[in-house]
Amino acid sequence: MNRLEQELRARFGARLRTGAPLAELTSFRIGGPADVLLTAEREDELRAALAAAWRERVPAFCLGAGTNLLVSDRGVRGLVVRLGDGFTHLEFEDVRVRAGAAAQFGALVREAVERGLGGIEFGEGIPGSVGGGLVMNAGAFGGEIARVVRLVHGVNEQGEALALSGAELKFSYRRTELPPRFVITRVDFELEHGDREELRARAAALRAKRAARQPRGLPNAGSIFKNPPGSFAGRLLENAGLKGARLGAAAFSTEHANFIVNLGGARAEDVRALIELAQSRVKQQSGVALEAEVRMIGEW
Ligand SMILES: Cc1cc2nc3c(=O)[nH]c(=O)nc-3n(C[C@H](O)[C@H](O)[C@H](O)COP(=O)(O)OP(=O)(O)OC[C@H]3O[C@@H](n4cnc5c(N)ncnc54)[C@H](O)[C@@H]3O)c2cc1C
Repeated sequence: MNRLEQELRARFGARLRTGAPLAELTSFRIGGPADVLLTAEREDELRAALAAAWRERVPAFCLGAGTNLLVSDRGVRGLVVRLGDGFTHLEFEDVRVRAGAAAQFGALVREAVERGLGGIEFGEGIPGSVGGGLVMNAGAFGGEIARVVRLVHGVNEQGEALALSGAELKFSYRRTELPPRFVITRVDFELEHGDREELRARAAALRAKRAARQPRGLPNAGSIFKNPPGSFAGRLLENAGLKGARLGAAAFSTEHANFIVNLGGARAEDVRALIELAQSRVKQQSGVALEAEVRMIGEW
């Protein structure tokens, strides 16, 4: 690790941060430090950092906007890499869009709607980045990102640039299979022409639905569990009496049982214990094994 740190320090200087707290980089506002945190501004920087980590056998993790993560209280060992402003472009050409992986997914959705391009308006209100959205196969209200992806550009764990076509990728519910530790740098989408006013109206309707259903004002990471086939995690949790259940400063939201909220200073351990409690109670009560949607990362 020290050798990697020295090598990266020589190239990136003060841009390399050691022991950087990750809580502030997540929507949950929970989590310990990264051994080493680097924001790559260009693809050559990203490639060099990943190649160096590979050579030194140090694990590398790509952090997006941190809206689907539970980072452990002990933090993340190895290199945590984020993508900077060099990866936030959105380029439109007829129905095609080239989106930098660090662009906000919401900005892409808004711009597409304003240009009268449909197929991605389901994403209105989904926070996070384009790269994170691709990894999670983000979706809502019957739509998902998988349906509009043409090409995914990125860098593999050895630091080599690669492009994978949408057809080559295996998408499933809130999951995309990618090569190990693949860091996405850009996603190319193919949308369809639509009526701008209709698209605006659809996006506004989805925004209103979301506002009525989701807890506001307290840090969270979106849905904690995936919906099991034919059912809703929120309903199962509510039936199991978990709405409002609290451990330390973490609690299942009183507004929507499938959200855990940070009431202020919550620990990752408490969130994890609530997740496990809910899994065992729901299994006992309805026989359903709930699978976490939020990704738990770091050293537990
Ligand atoms: C209030 C709220 C509402 C939400 N509503 C929805 C919803 O309706 N539908 C939905 O699907 N999700 C929803 N989410 C969850 C979350 O917003 C999505 O999963 C989002 O796509 C995650 O993107 P991110 O950039 O924050 O990724 P992160 O949380 O940072 O990371 C998620 C995963 O993606 C990986 N990753 C991120 N960027 C890259 C990259 N460039 N290359 C390689 N790997 C990368 C990370 O390593 C990690 O494994 C919601 C979250 C919140 C807080």
